[in-house]
Amino acid sequence: MKPLGSLMIRLRNAAEVAVVRLRLLKQQGFKCAVCGCSLKGRVRGGATLDHDHDTGVCRGVLCKVCNTGEGKLRTVAVRYGGGKDGELEWLRNMTAYKSIHKQPMTEYLYPEKRRKVCKKK
Ligand SMILES: [Zn+2]
Repeated sequence: MKPLGSLMIRLRNAAEVAVVRLRLLKQQGFKCAVCGCSLKGRVRGGATLDHDHDTGVCRGVLCKVCNTGEGKLRTVAVRYGGGKDGELEWLRNMTAYKSIHKQPMTEYLYPEKRRKVCKKK
């Protein structure tokens, strides 16, 4: 891991972004850093150089779906986590909540019709 404050390279244009994206893709074995899907042949248009929007630090290469999901999840986590400082805690809490409820924790089933309506969204 590269500590913040040490020498960082500011990318200046799309061409430099493309070079770094390819470099990181090679390090990641041409797989999305989140879901692990293959990004071979998807260097253009299907692979995104993900970065921290607060610091600008490039984190890795994600598929379009994961990059979009990360952004949406961050928006929700920041909003309901009480700000940027609460983002990771909210995500940890949500992960723990979902993990705990992999096994039924109540005896109640949601109404069938309501569940079908929810799936259409
Ligand atoms: Zn992915």
